[in-house]
Amino acid sequence: MPQQKFNKARFNAALTRQWQHLGLTSAQQMTTHQWWQAISAALAELLAAQPAPRVSERQRHVNYLSMEFLIGRLTGNNLLNLGWYDDVKALLAGQQIDLTELLEQEVDPALGNGGLGRLAACYMDSMATVGQSATGHGLNYQYGLFRQSFDQGQQIEAPDDWQRERYPWFRHNAALDVEVAMGGSVEKLEQGGVRWQPDFYLRGEAWDLPVTGYRNGTTLPLRLWQATSAHPFDLTRFNDGQFLQAEQPGIDAAKLTKVLYPNDNHQAGKRLRLMQQYFQCACAVADILRRHHLAGRSIHSLPDFEVIQLNDTHPTIAIPEMLRRLLDEHQLSWDQAWHITSRLFAYTNHTLMPEALERWDEKLMRSLLPRHMLIIKEINQRLKKQVKQRWPDDKALWHKLAVVADGEVRMANLCVVSGFAVNGVAALHSSLVVTDLFPEYYQLWPQKFHNVTNGITPRRWLKQCNPALASLIDDTLKVEWVNNLDALKGLEAYVDDPAFCQRYRSIKQQNKARLTDYIARHTGIIVNPDAMFDVQIKRLHEYKRQHLSLLHILHCYQTLLDNPDDARFIPRVFLFGAKAAPGYYLAKNIIYAINKVAEVVNNDPRVGDKLKVVFIPDYRITVAEMMIPAADLSEQISTAGYEASGTGNMKLALNGALTIGTLDGANVEIAEQVGEENIFIFGHRVDEVKALKAAGYNPKKVRKQNKGLDALLKSLEKGKFSGGDKQAFDLMLASLTKNGDPWLVLADFQAYIEAQQRVEALWRDPLSWTRAAILNTARTGMFSSDRAISDYQQRIWQAAR
Ligand SMILES: *Cc1c(COP(=O)(O)O)cnc(C)c1O
Repeated sequence: MPQQKFNKARFNAALTRQWQHLGLTSAQQMTTHQWWQAISAALAELLAAQPAPRVSERQRHVNYLSMEFLIGRLTGNNLLNLGWYDDVKALLAGQQIDLTELLEQEVDPALGNGGLGRLAACYMDSMATVGQSATGHGLNYQYGLFRQSFDQGQQIEAPDDWQRERYPWFRHNAALDVEVAMGGSVEKLEQGGVRWQPDFYLRGEAWDLPVTGYRNGTTLPLRLWQATSAHPFDLTRFNDGQFLQAEQPGIDAAKLTKVLYPNDNHQAGKRLRLMQQYFQCACAVADILRRHHLAGRSIHSLPDFEVIQLNDTHPTIAIPEMLRRLLDEHQLSWDQAWHITSRLFAYTNHTLMPEALERWDEKLMRSLLPRHMLIIKEINQRLKKQVKQRWPDDKALWHKLAVVADGEVRMANLCVVSGFAVNGVAALHSSLVVTDLFPEYYQLWPQKFHNVTNGITPRRWLKQCNPALASLIDDTLKVEWVNNLDALKGLEAYVDDPAFCQRYRSIKQQNKARLTDYIARHTGIIVNPDAMFDVQIKRLHEYKRQHLSLLHILHCYQTLLDNPDDARFIPRVFLFGAKAAPGYYLAKNIIYAINKVAEVVNNDPRVGDKLKVVFIPDYRITVAEMMIPAADLSEQISTAGYEASGTGNMKLALNGALTIGTLDGANVEIAEQVGEENIFIFGHRVDEVKALKAAGYNPKKVRKQNKGLDALLKSLEKGKFSGGDKQAFDLMLASLTKNGDPWLVLADFQAYIEAQQRVEALWRDPLSWTRAAILNTARTGMFSSDRAISDYQQRIWQAAR
């Protein structure tokens, strides 16, 4: 379906309603912020009135369940996808209003932590663009991820009250409200079967955000559920006297969806978090069943029309919730209910790290969800029979494969056992899912296991964030590439075209100048836009190894002090963006160390503008959109085997940053695509990491044998960067030495330094550098999330009929 043309009259009418609603007498009376509110609300109104696209009966409707959707600002993105950007810009220019300035008024909806939440947002964008019928189900957190600032180098967290004012893109769809029960007990019925007697009820309200496809007239709902107390809208219960009995023991309903848990790749078994998970799942399952019934279809055909994709294990309780409704409400037998459920759910695994794999205390689960705990036990018992048949008398193996063991429920196991598909998020990761995480499950059900390498949307991550490069590509290729990213291959023909290379290079320079201004405004630091911009942006985590980059900074600083007049020294600006979870003290100590080193380096007169270190505060989508187009070098230096895919690596390569990285996650596939001469690979590989650990890795030995490294560590230990405070970086330094360096930072140090020297050698030859950058843009088309969604369609979502 083609996108409708911009209707100026209807837009103006909607806009007028907005300022009238504010009690104003003309549009001119609006503040810039009110202008942003008004045009966003007017656009939302027009979108809501668009006819729904017809979907193919042969396509299953995808329900994408994710605890996080890190969507970024919507107004500019929706205008771009609708193709109405220039129309609205012109219309506003007539009122002396600058659209670009106005779009800066939008705060980021902070509904996610990092890569996992951003992936969900990219997938919604691509499903809308390729015309996959879908609904995103998440939670409407009142407070998103904290706002970060620094006080004398330490991370400070402030609440992010991003919805203090009404967010104009939301539409509350009251007809979809659902009721969710929790707590209580299960009683056995005389006639057989059981009945759950919950303790209390909540109401789930559906707050929808529109996700627009790229110029195809399609809009998908991102349905964010919000908890409120269950007012006596259920009159039967009220009259029964049950409502009063059910009144709120132990929970203030409105608190349930107040805050996003700030952990990334780490699980904490908190009661409120489990309540959030169940609340989201119960709302989503109710919504799916309601839609199926309204279509007049038999419950047995549910998997023919619907699929539920679980983004990590956070929404796993949707599985026992679906079984509960089929068993207790639809009165199906176990076999019938299982036959439906086991064709409905597909699970995306995001990590192999034990500390991130979700396990819930069985007692906690039973106290909150007694009926679900019984169902989980039943799944476990039936699994036990199957395992015993296949591997008789292997107690240790059963203990490993059980869904419930040691008083805990293992959510990843529950997903694999109950779902029809499991996928990893990059080729390397998917193979490790099979060999290291679930080898026995793979023997039982090889057909369940798949790979879908992650992707990013080229709408936001190239066209919107890098308009100059987008228009160079338009001018050069003269085809629509934004929804067909493989077309970028056509740029390879221009790598030897001096005019094209010159324009490509000057666009990078403009983007660096723009970031230089931003840095000056937000940090007061003046950087040299001609220096190499060396960028590491991602959540702060030991496995991502921001501290490895820190050691390289110290190395560069020392090199410069040793040879202050060496004309061959390559000037660099080290740029970081990263939030650390508030309770992750070691990660916060790494932030502190980077900031303290920055203070010394940036203020050393011997350094001048040859070296600068900038930690940009409050890293989020909007900051990423500024930093990525300006990056020369992309740091993707995780310990091999621990970054499941990464998507920051894809955004940066697409925008022409060269990667320095380990053979981890999607770096492996990026290297295959761009060619090894256009990427800097270093360090221990997955099998070498395993072998080193098995052989009893000792970082102290590495340190002893590397005098340069030893001197750098000593300078930190002696307080050289912390005003003499020798304990300042204890947490980080202890981890690197005494505590065994679990992420092999020291083991990879020398190889990293040597790879950085290869980076510098290429940088000295600007034409060759630009050529490699162009080839990165030209050859990263496969990392479009449109391709990833097409993989999901072909490998996982195809109709089960
Ligand atoms: C892409 C993105 C991430 C993920 O980055 P990785 O380097 O893959 O960890 C995290 N946060 C934001 C804001 C992003 O845009």
